[in-house]
Amino acid sequence: MKRPHVIVLGGGFAGIECCKALSSADVDITIIDRQNHHLFQPLLYQVASAGLAAPEIAHPIRSIFSDQDNVRVVMDEVRIIDPDARTVTTAEDQFQYDYLAIGLGVKTGYFGNDEWAEHAGGLKTLNDATEIRREILLAFEKAEMEEDPQLRKKLMTTAIVGGGPTGVELAGAFAELARHVLKGDFRNIDTSEANVILVEAAPRLLTMYDEKLSEYTRKKLESLGIDVRTEERVTDVGEDFLQLESGRIEAANLIWAAGVQASPVTKQLGVELDPGGRLIVETDLSLPGHPNIFAMGDIAHCIDQAGVRVPGLCPAAMQMGKHVAKVIKDDLKRSKQKAKSNYDVRPQFRYFDKGSMATIGRSAAVASSMGLKFTGFIAWLMWLFIHLLFLVGFRNKIAVLLQWFYAYVRYRRGARIITGVPADGSATTP
Ligand SMILES: Cc1cc2nc3c(=O)[nH]c(=O)nc-3n(C[C@H](O)[C@H](O)[C@H](O)COP(=O)(O)OP(=O)(O)OC[C@H]3O[C@@H](n4cnc5c(N)ncnc54)[C@H](O)[C@@H]3O)c2cc1C
Repeated sequence: MKRPHVIVLGGGFAGIECCKALSSADVDITIIDRQNHHLFQPLLYQVASAGLAAPEIAHPIRSIFSDQDNVRVVMDEVRIIDPDARTVTTAEDQFQYDYLAIGLGVKTGYFGNDEWAEHAGGLKTLNDATEIRREILLAFEKAEMEEDPQLRKKLMTTAIVGGGPTGVELAGAFAELARHVLKGDFRNIDTSEANVILVEAAPRLLTMYDEKLSEYTRKKLESLGIDVRTEERVTDVGEDFLQLESGRIEAANLIWAAGVQASPVTKQLGVELDPGGRLIVETDLSLPGHPNIFAMGDIAHCIDQAGVRVPGLCPAAMQMGKHVAKVIKDDLKRSKQKAKSNYDVRPQFRYFDKGSMATIGRSAAVASSMGLKFTGFIAWLMWLFIHLLFLVGFRNKIAVLLQWFYAYVRYRRGARIITGVPADGSATTP
């Protein structure tokens, strides 16, 4: 007899956990992702700031499942989901499912101003990270050759929009890159004079944390020379500038870390979405009216069994992925026992909050876990330990640990090679 076919969309934290948790189930699984790798997004900022090379934070999805026989990996772009026909159409193929688990994550959102993306890129993929790194390193090269002090200043200014964990981590890493790592490498410019500006619309940074941690973060960033501007709303973004309500920032490097939105495929499902386009799920993580379709991870808007809004974090995505697998396994068990399928008896999702953390430069962080708050070096050690623990692949863990050790002791960063410059001399002068 044909086994039930489970299609898992997305090889992120939710998708990978869901497939792993179905390893012993009597199902065939197809996992579809447009990338061939699972990406450890929490360390993307390190690739963007030349601390780590791209392969150190990514792992091939095929290799994660090479020993799990019931998984087939398809590298393709999901285009259409048809709940009536129970099909998923990709750029190259079409697949029929019995169960569908959607874990496509979210992408950078510009609050309806998508044209800003051209000038201020986000940080969601390896391409984004390597592009940011390339732009920043190239800007220093151009500044070295620039005679005009105004243009030189602009080239040496980086403005980051969004004072959440990504913005804070990027700002700290760029300040250290300029003040320490690149110091002494140039002859005409003093890289320690580079400006890093962090813009946040809310009255404080890291709004999801306790006020004391926000205040600590602000002071720590300012001690690194970062210009922190809270209660500043961006009204326009153009080539080399940010327009704020209070004035204009001239900066050659603009990074958007302020918002996210779900993939447009969510609109095809005919169910209720939240303002970010996320799928609003039932407490078993299925979509209302579609008991065989689930959303998990960042793409799901979930209020759990205890009434808690589940945050867009890796542990939440992993827990949701595992939960979807459990619901499917329970359903199959009930149907084997010829029990009447009753969706009301399905297990309900409950998020276990292990806490959250963000680094601020080389050896400081803020962490909040189980009602406890940590700052400084101890929080940074916790951050280091947790991030290494969850990094997929043994080789990656060793490589990253060695890189961090080297960077910590020598204040050096290995991933500073600029690629993508034409070798035939056709590059135009900036
Ligand atoms: C810069 C950054 C830093 C972060 N730092 C932290 C942190 O420190 N701690 C923490 O807990 N969380 C952090 N997060 C959040 C965390 O990464 C997410 O919550 C987590 O990745 C969500 O997992 P997911 O499986 O829902 O989605 P993702 O991990 O985003 O995976 C989605 C997958 O779907 C694929 N996909 C998307 N669209 C398509 C399509 N149309 N067709 C085929 N495939 C598609 C993508 O290629 C991707 O592999 C960070 C996120 C970012 C961007």
